[in-house]
Amino acid sequence: MGFKDVIGNNGVKKILHRALKQKKLPNSLLFAGPEGIGKKQTALIVAKALNCLKKTSDACEECTHCKAINNRNFPDVMVISPAKDVLKIDQMRLLKDTAYMKPMAGRKRVFIVCEAEKMNDEASNSLLKILEEPPPFSHITLVTPNPYRIIPTLKSRCQIFLFSPIPKEEIQKALVARGFQPEKAKILSLLVDGNLKEALSLDWEEVRSQRNQAWDLFLALHRREKAAPLLKQYSVSRGVIKEDLEKTLEILALFCRDVILIKEQAEPEFLLNPDFEQDLRGLARSVPLSQAMDFLSEMDFAIAALRRNLNVNVLVSSIFSNFLERSHV
Ligand SMILES: [Zn+2]
Repeated sequence: MGFKDVIGNNGVKKILHRALKQKKLPNSLLFAGPEGIGKKQTALIVAKALNCLKKTSDACEECTHCKAINNRNFPDVMVISPAKDVLKIDQMRLLKDTAYMKPMAGRKRVFIVCEAEKMNDEASNSLLKILEEPPPFSHITLVTPNPYRIIPTLKSRCQIFLFSPIPKEEIQKALVARGFQPEKAKILSLLVDGNLKEALSLDWEEVRSQRNQAWDLFLALHRREKAAPLLKQYSVSRGVIKEDLEKTLEILALFCRDVILIKEQAEPEFLLNPDFEQDLRGLARSVPLSQAMDFLSEMDFAIAALRRNLNVNVLVSSIFSNFLERSHV
């Protein structure tokens, strides 16, 4: 898989490709950005490009070096991941010691440190010198979804590349290319916040049942009837999983958006939940536009609050009581 096969982040890919071509790629890199958007994949392409037998600024994927790197048995490319959730000093020492030795089989030694934010202080400090002055034949790429957890002295020694979530349309296209039905691909692309890896790993049946549950909750909140038992699912006593709640709120927000779209006479192709079209149209007849707007702003507010890491249990009760009050003003 060369640069062209990585979905999204065209700007980053272009800069890396150009730097490789001009042989000006910095030796210490930091790839930062949310999960599931191709950071490690890109780091591996860079590792292949630095060692490929046919190309110098991309991976050919056919030569023995590219294949060995893909199979993780190329002696000059080391991928380091946390053991038991910590990157330890011993792992970094091994990196450091190896990085000062000339490559054995390829042109460059490459070290990819995954989840680099999981380095403890000792491990971070041990890397300072090598990141400051790496030998010309060694490249070190730190990969992280949480750059703010990496100590500043480490960050300042690396050239930082910020990866962005993948646009929904590109995720949808990638899913269709992998054999998903267009309607399912569209729905999945809306639920993953630009995380292609998550989109590929979601189980459609589970997604459908989660959406059906969210739809029941949506109706209950709208009618204020039977809401209590449904709300219990999210109650403190049952224990709230933040990600589950966030996902449910996102699905509710998508339903709200569709109700608004229908009320604004949008064409059916713009609906975000095409498989709920009949139900949504039925509901839209009995909901004033202003109420749908209020629903939506309440959901957006709650999602933002959750992402700010406010206490989940406190939020749950306030979200839903506000929601119920507002919907019946
Ligand atoms: Zn190759």
